[in-house]
Order: sequence, then C-alpha cells, then structure tokens
Amino acid sequence: MSDLRDLYQDLILDHGKKPRNFRKDDACTHHAEGFNPLCGDQIALFLRVSQDGKVEDACFQGKGCAISTASASMMTAAVKGMTVEEARRLFVRFRDLITGVDPSTSDSELGKLAVFDGIREYPNRIKCAALPWHALTTALDGNADPVSTE
Ligand code: ZN
Repeated sequence: MSDLRDLYQDLILDHGKKPRNFRKDDACTHHAEGFNPLCGDQIALFLRVSQDGKVEDACFQGKGCAISTASASMMTAAVKGMTVEEARRLFVRFRDLITGVDPSTSDSELGKLAVFDGIREYPNRIKCAALPWHALTTALDGNADPVSTE
C-alpha cells in the first residue's frame, strides 16, 4: 500500500478511519447497494428525500478500503441539504474530476471533494472512489438492483 501514500491525504485518512454518517436508516426513502469486486468494497446507501426533492439525510454502511469509505463519508456530508438535481450535478462533476475528463479542482462546487483529485494516478482506485456515487445515482433513480462497478 506504500505506493498509495501520496493519495492518503489527511482528509481522506480521517474520513476513512472515522467515517461520518456511518449508520443505517430504516426509514429512508431511497436505498441502494453497491459492490466493487476489484477491491471488495461494499456499501449500502440510505437517503431521505423530501417531497419537494431535497436530500434531507444521507448515510451509509458497509465495509471497504479507506478510499471507498472516505468517499462515502464525504459524499453523504456533501449531498445532505442539496436538491436531487444538485446532487446529480455534483456526481457528474466528481466523476469528471476522478476520471480526468475535467481535472480542474478550482470548481467551488466540489469543495473538499477536490482532495480526490490524485486518484487518477491510481486507476484501480477510481472505482473505489466512484462506488458510493454510483450507489447514489442508483438510489435516486429508484433502481433496487445492486450496482456493481464491473
Ligand atoms: Zn476499494
């Protein structure tokens, strides 16, 4: 794992070790499961979306590497309080960042999520960072089938 040292910036380490919003929500309105077979990351995502389309709460459970855990932790914190449309836009923005389509980190929309910028150097890890976000869109789409990054 030493080749990943540069990647483990303080924020990612912190969220990976002490994930925020790490809990189950039995009364959620949206739910999705995600699996990244490449790394073994598993996530269950729970959302509460209000009738006027606002993400009132977001939380997750699962087990995975520091990258997927930190990504889920920071994603749930970021989308809480957003509208569904804003959350979807953020997903696109984040995906473009980590896949290098649009590697600009100056975008204020990304905020702290810009720390995942360095993940591009580690192609195997992109799926770890993207997994919670795929679960997010799956949950918002109301698709109950588990999402796999493969
Ligand atoms: Zn992983």
